[in-house]
Amino acid sequence: MKKSQFKKYLHIFDKLETDSFTHNTVFEAFLSCINEKDLILSKKEFHQLLDFLIASKNIKILENGFDLSQPLYIFAKSSHDSKLEALSLFEALIQKEETRAYFKTHLNEPLSLRFIDEEFRPIILETLLFKKTDHVRIFEPKWLYEYQWILEDTEKGLNCSDCLKACYTHDLYSHQKLQYRNEGSPIVNYQHLEDMLDIFPQKGVPVDRDCSKDLQVFFKDCLFNEFHHSCCICQAALPHMLITSHIKPFRDCGYLIEAMDSNNGLLLCRNHDYLFDQGYISFDEQGHLLICDELQDKKEIYQLKENFKLDHTHMNASRKLFLEYHRHHIYKK
Ligand SMILES: [Zn+2]
Repeated sequence: MKKSQFKKYLHIFDKLETDSFTHNTVFEAFLSCINEKDLILSKKEFHQLLDFLIASKNIKILENGFDLSQPLYIFAKSSHDSKLEALSLFEALIQKEETRAYFKTHLNEPLSLRFIDEEFRPIILETLLFKKTDHVRIFEPKWLYEYQWILEDTEKGLNCSDCLKACYTHDLYSHQKLQYRNEGSPIVNYQHLEDMLDIFPQKGVPVDRDCSKDLQVFFKDCLFNEFHHSCCICQAALPHMLITSHIKPFRDCGYLIEAMDSNNGLLLCRNHDYLFDQGYISFDEQGHLLICDELQDKKEIYQLKENFKLDHTHMNASRKLFLEYHRHHIYKK
């Protein structure tokens, strides 16, 4: 399959609505969203593609449709032959543990395509991932340090590395002459802060929030994916009840990177979003729920359990930095 075709299909998967997931109903729903001449796959090949995307952890089945992994979502949106396209495809490839293990040991060697899932092979060759020499294809060496980060961070359970998010911010952001505010405000102390600011040095956040729409969609999408489409405190799952809540409020952010970093967010229902936003609740550095004095005798009413703890997979180094900010500046105690 050609890269452009694949990207077109991903856009359709992202928007596809179906409440039945047999191969036939998904194919029918897909057909209704595409011109027949654009569908170059047979029904059987289509099913293989869908099975592959699910097995490689790049697509998840929801109640009434599909959820693309963040890297594939970025890949579908990226422009032709851009570095963003190549990096997001690389990240999509290593969603599967076996592929990640292969890249960890062979990062600096000529790539044997045998280790890449068959469906990705023709697509990967169409991206900037490779420097083509006469006989072999090798990774573009100057990008190796970024790959290393992605590999390490994926291992730690991060959705994508902070530096990669800086790349995403840089490329998804419309570079117009804009008005910024908060240009003097500090950024949280990221582990790779210097490198991140090398990639995207712009200080402040735009006065007009609408101009960062693509990034806001990405922020939302990351959090829905990470928290499995439900409130991380009470598991309420009706989509219209859910809010992607900033931990360090957007109004306090000193750089667009931290405003758009999903580690600076939690997925909460409207009730718990309000309590968190207003500082009635917070989380300690292990992820235990903190409840302010005022609500101590009203825990049941607000569905707050004393011993509740955020799952450790959400407690990566960057999210801990943002929660520390919340405890110090927002939490009422
Ligand atoms: Zn809730």
